[in-house]
Amino acid sequence: MAQIVVKNVKKMFGDFTAVRESSFTIEDGEFFMLLGPSGCGKTTTLRMIAGLELPTSGEIYLDGEEISQRPPSERDIAFVFQMFALYPHMNVRKNISYPLISQGMPRAAVKAKVEEVAGILGIKDILDSPVGGLSGGDRQRVALGRAIVREPKAFMMDEPLGALDAEFREHMAEELRALHDRMGATTVYVTHDQLEAMQMGDKIVVMNNAVIEQFGTPQEIYDKPATMFVADFIGSPSMNFLPFQGKVAPGSEMVRLNGHDEAVPKLMEGAEGDLVFGVRPEHVFLSDASAYRAKVLAAEYLGTTQIVTLQSPNGELKARIDARETVNPGETVGLEFRSSAVTLFENSTGRALR
Ligand code: ATP
Repeated sequence: MAQIVVKNVKKMFGDFTAVRESSFTIEDGEFFMLLGPSGCGKTTTLRMIAGLELPTSGEIYLDGEEISQRPPSERDIAFVFQMFALYPHMNVRKNISYPLISQGMPRAAVKAKVEEVAGILGIKDILDSPVGGLSGGDRQRVALGRAIVREPKAFMMDEPLGALDAEFREHMAEELRALHDRMGATTVYVTHDQLEAMQMGDKIVVMNNAVIEQFGTPQEIYDKPATMFVADFIGSPSMNFLPFQGKVAPGSEMVRLNGHDEAVPKLMEGAEGDLVFGVRPEHVFLSDASAYRAKVLAAEYLGTTQIVTLQSPNGELKARIDARETVNPGETVGLEFRSSAVTLFENSTGRALR
């Protein structure tokens, strides 16, 4: 069991606020992502959970017990660093055994435990090999083996795949997730890669400028972004934002933006003021029936879909449509938007209207 509760936790470095008051709960067994751009405070948050930094204020609980001020050695949390440092002069078995031997575990028990972990990771056949000659993937597995052999309550991982090339990274991401599903240990994972967070995470905290912008499942964060920052950060190409002034008229299935005759979803009826109309590229449709006209600027072919860049009366936007539809740069097309997929934001705060 390892539930982690972060409650009103704040971290200052001198006058600088690295993490503003943050609260979230990581349930037992969750693969939990801390996502955000460089410098937003995600590593500091992870380090506070592991005990490598102490919070300036607020509390952290592990299974109901407060651990905020305890040293890392008294937290039973394993930290997996980006640079998987192995002991180069030891073979694989010795590298994985090391944490148990230094705990004083008897030899026979160490041997059995290491064999078990090697079995889980699929590296039994290289246990007696020197680590020097191993492939990148095997080195990662050995390093993971060293982290999991202690059976900590939870794992902290700081961009563990950051140094790998794209293809291998994807493979290791799948392996890590599969390993997690087999072991079921609570894992907190820092990344700036939104795709990685969406693919691997059960829950995601999106941070920006030391603040939590949103906390939820990948689907909640993608479909119901709480702020324009989240809507922009998640998804590729990112959400389209069009300035939207005027009063919202009664709803229908598809939205047509045109002067003051727009039909938009029920939830936005009556919304008024200085707003931003947000719609993802896959919810923009080309339609002869629509009087909302846009000029095709470019079309980028991606095999099954294509990304069309359009100049609308409200600004430039992108549509992801079927690759078999014919669109020619320079032509004028009508546009419609799926009403259930539209988010309206308040321009002054960037917050979504709910
Ligand atoms: P990155 O992916 O670049 O590591 P991050 O989101 O993990 O970004 P943090 O490492 O948590 O960000 O850092 C948040 C902010 O706090 C940064 O502006 C960083 O410079 C600052 N910071 C982190 N550690 C310290 C420290 N020990 N002393 C002073 N400032 C620090």
